[in-house]
Amino acid sequence: MGKGTPSKEGGGKTHIVCRRCGKHAYNPRKGYCAACGYGRSKRIRSYNWKK
Ligand SMILES: [Zn+2]
Repeated sequence: MGKGTPSKEGGGKTHIVCRRCGKHAYNPRKGYCAACGYGRSKRIRSYNWKK
């Protein structure tokens, strides 16, 4: 104990494939997709100025 890095703990993936946008950006720990915002908001992540 006391040496090494604690990065081997756990066994889950940080990001999984999002079922909405299909990208490998869904974060099950946070509960939302970083790409399309699935789970973060009801709407798809979009902006008015992005027209
Ligand atoms: Zn997504």
